[in-house]
Amino acid sequence: MVTTTSFNTTKSEEIFAAAQKLMPGGVSSPVRAFKSVGGQPIVFDRVQGAYIWDVDDNKYIDYVGTWGPAICGHAHPDVIQALHQALEKGTSFGAPSALENILAEMVIEAVPSIEIVRFVNSGTEACMSVLRLMRAFIGRDKIIKFEGCYHGHADMFLVKAGSGVATLGLPDSPGVPKSATNNTLTAPYNDLEAVKALFSENPDQIAGVILEPVVGNSGFIPPDAGFLEGLREITHEYGALLVFDEVMTGFRIAYGGAQERFGVTPDLTTLGKVIGGGLPVGAYGGRGDIMSLVAPAGPMYQAGTLSGNPLAMTAGMKTLELLQKSGTYEQLDRITKKLTEGLLNIAKETGHEVYGGQISGMFGMFFTAGPVHNYDDAKKSDLNKFARFHRGMLERGIYLAPSQFEAGFTSLAHTEEDIDQTIAAAKEVLSSL
Ligand SMILES: *Cc1c(COP(=O)(O)O)cnc(C)c1O
Repeated sequence: MVTTTSFNTTKSEEIFAAAQKLMPGGVSSPVRAFKSVGGQPIVFDRVQGAYIWDVDDNKYIDYVGTWGPAICGHAHPDVIQALHQALEKGTSFGAPSALENILAEMVIEAVPSIEIVRFVNSGTEACMSVLRLMRAFIGRDKIIKFEGCYHGHADMFLVKAGSGVATLGLPDSPGVPKSATNNTLTAPYNDLEAVKALFSENPDQIAGVILEPVVGNSGFIPPDAGFLEGLREITHEYGALLVFDEVMTGFRIAYGGAQERFGVTPDLTTLGKVIGGGLPVGAYGGRGDIMSLVAPAGPMYQAGTLSGNPLAMTAGMKTLELLQKSGTYEQLDRITKKLTEGLLNIAKETGHEVYGGQISGMFGMFFTAGPVHNYDDAKKSDLNKFARFHRGMLERGIYLAPSQFEAGFTSLAHTEEDIDQTIAAAKEVLSSL
């Protein structure tokens, strides 16, 4: 394991310096640049199981898992082998393939709300498409989203958004016209009264409510008891749709996602991350009567050159197959509980105010006494302390998401020993803060 004294990142620094002249901020997606935690990002060379190796050959235990998809562990041999076989048949068809049927059947069988599914290439695409579908089906333009929830980077969602938007402290983004967000109403997460107020102030104008059923993009924030049920009732009452953005939680906190875990069935669902098994896939699906509006079955246009890509379908199928083995979610839960409880206990023992939790293989720890029910609560975290914690962990071979406002992820490849090592590293770091 890497220690502070031997931590050498010379090659990472060289490559990242060159990257900054080639790409905005040197990255292809903002949070990767480590801006909110300071210091240089490490540049990856390879991944395997629960581990990452950087270009300087430092090894890390990974709790980002390429932001969720690596739930079976990176580069799982079964996924890699299936990809090799699929590759022999070509990289893209742009035409129907039997592989799409297989993954579609798996998704429909797993996710309670999904009767019909459309594959796209990212979570962003899934969410922008589902929004168009909500409006097309209900015939109203306004939607409700929650502060700190992230639904990809489409214009309509860049209002009080989580993830990188939160990380960088941007209220929204230049280039997003007011007209694109005029119809986006926002409420604090876990606040049913605020949602009711929006519905009564905007009679017959709201197409639906979209949310992360467990928030990961303002850090880990679970729904309060009754919140999801309450949204189901309110949306029914006002003739509006309920949409779960399960891009992160789908196949992550239970095989059937948050809707299975909490027993609340939305009308529509978006998926991404895990269903691509590390390749670019997103999906949206739901009630058959709503999905029948999607072209070419119906008039709502949405398309994609690479959608249903054979390699992406293959990685998704193999990943879901591995997740179907009995005991997988129990294993994720056990290992993640050990990690989260360990971290919280050590933090408290070493005199830090922290608040956190986990569900299955998704976890978080805020540097605030909490409780954290919404984004405003999350923002009370000591970000400076988080940054120093993050750096200390990195130097000890533990790769955490480089932002207080991102959930962490474990995988089936993480061992008890990995967790012990992580907690030992945390003890050192937290004692020194
Ligand atoms: C990651 C994420 C998205 C966006 O997905 P991309 O594949 O990054 O476009 C949307 N919604 C949620 C809840 C996410 O976690």
